[in-house]
Amino acid sequence: MATNRTFTMLKPDAIEKGHIGAILEKITASGFRIVAMKLTQMTRNDAEQFYAVHKERPFFGELVEYMTRGPIVAAILEKENAVEDFRTLIGTTNPAEAAEGTIRRLYAESIGENAVHGSDSDENAAIEGAFHFAGREMF
Ligand code: UDP
Ligand code: MG
Repeated sequence: MATNRTFTMLKPDAIEKGHIGAILEKITASGFRIVAMKLTQMTRNDAEQFYAVHKERPFFGELVEYMTRGPIVAAILEKENAVEDFRTLIGTTNPAEAAEGTIRRLYAESIGENAVHGSDSDENAAIEGAFHFAGREMF
């Protein structure tokens, strides 16, 4: 299996609750190498663009409010089979349904405030990584 990359955000709820360290520890202990990382805050325009695929969904307004209300940690991660393995590590969108030991099961509150983002394809991982990082910020 090829080494590839995924993109993640530790979302505002995870930062507010002080979970940055615990979540990063779980990510690196699971074999992901951090290629790029920063603490940043999305503007409304950023969030509307990042989640444009969801703009017709009923939760879009709340999602934009949530994702812009405080800082996030954005990161690019590298591992064999990164996209799929990271989705397994974070668990399902709804933390109530997420497997035991997954990041969302451990640290998330609700389907809306679910602690962490993970790209859903190699193509989106590249688009989302480039949305947040310049080439010289990737290692
Ligand atoms: N979301 C929500 N309500 C829903 C579904 C999703 O508020 O019913 C939010 C949630 O924060 C989720 C994000 O929108 O992480 C993107 O949704 P997606 O279906 O892409 O879930 P993910 O890929 O993050 O598991
Ligand atoms: Mg998604």
